[in-house]
Amino acid sequence: METILTGVRTNGELTLGNFLGAIRPMAELAKKYHKTHKINVFVPDLHTIIADVQGDLQANIIRSLKYYLAAGLPIHDNILVYRQSYVPAHSELTWILNCTATMGETSRMIQYKEKSDGGKETANVGIFDYPVLMAADILLYSAKYVPVGEDQFQHLELTRDLALRFNHRAGKEIFLPPSITSEQAEFMGLSSGLRIRDLQNPEKKMDKSSPNANSKIMLSDEPAVASKKIMSATTDNLAKIDYDMFNQPGISNLLQILSLLTDTTLENVTAVWAGEDSYGAFKQNVATVVSDFLTDFQAKYNSIDDKTVLDLLEKGEKRANEIAKRKLLEAQKAVGLR
Ligand code: ATP
Ligand code: MG
Repeated sequence: METILTGVRTNGELTLGNFLGAIRPMAELAKKYHKTHKINVFVPDLHTIIADVQGDLQANIIRSLKYYLAAGLPIHDNILVYRQSYVPAHSELTWILNCTATMGETSRMIQYKEKSDGGKETANVGIFDYPVLMAADILLYSAKYVPVGEDQFQHLELTRDLALRFNHRAGKEIFLPPSITSEQAEFMGLSSGLRIRDLQNPEKKMDKSSPNANSKIMLSDEPAVASKKIMSATTDNLAKIDYDMFNQPGISNLLQILSLLTDTTLENVTAVWAGEDSYGAFKQNVATVVSDFLTDFQAKYNSIDDKTVLDLLEKGEKRANEIAKRKLLEAQKAVGLR
């Protein structure tokens, strides 16, 4: 059985970008594949502490798992839910993979450059090393598909490289390299990776840790507040509605959001609005769709209790430890530690 695996850092409230890029695709894939695949939804709590955590980490963890359930993640024996730090093999394999990865590789990671302000000496080592931990997260469970947003694709490529290099040195296939990123996108039903943009600066991606509240829609936003954020999103003065990320990133981002939340293709959404020369009605429509989505989603979220999540974690962590320990032992033997 192939494994599909994903996780979202819980360093704060999550955004619509996290939802559309990672949570909903995983819930959809799990619905479609849970009878034929193993599905791992894990909380990367070790990844979370590489930067300041907003709010209480434990509360953030429970909340993020409720988001998956509210997005439709089924409860089933083939679906494992666990916290990374409750499965020590993640940390142990990271150390072994640290001795496979090179400084050059990890310093080339765009996320590292961005999060360390271009490699500042005061950046913590966790920021530098987290792609290797991510490789361990994936390789321990032989995950073939890892539904993530486009910003994480470079880390998936690194994971593949590390798996192939480790296997080559070991002289046998210890790790299953995850599929190449174009196949990952295809598996998620996308032509390429997804990147929801910052509402105020659509050149950038929407980040949950952005200091500007108006740049991001949070899943906990009051629907009316979210609606205002959409109305004040940066657009342009080209007076046409077209999907053109290069020349009209703000408009294209809103088209993208509209398309995803209404389950309509981008072509169809764009065709509906093509020919409009003012943006008011279009933005109002996106604002209504976003606020209706939040109303509905928040109601689902509120109907899930903590116990449902805690029970899933308890069961999931026991099984995840069994699987991860077995793979760790293979890697330990390959490098002579056992
Ligand atoms: P941070 O600012 O803390 O890095 P983030 O919003 O980038 O937060 P991550 O925890 O880095 O979130 O990523 C969680 C998941 O959400 C990943 O799969 C990532 O690819 C996806 N993701 C994050 N931002 C976006 C976005 N703007 N569009 C699509 N997917 C996204
Ligand atoms: Mg990020």
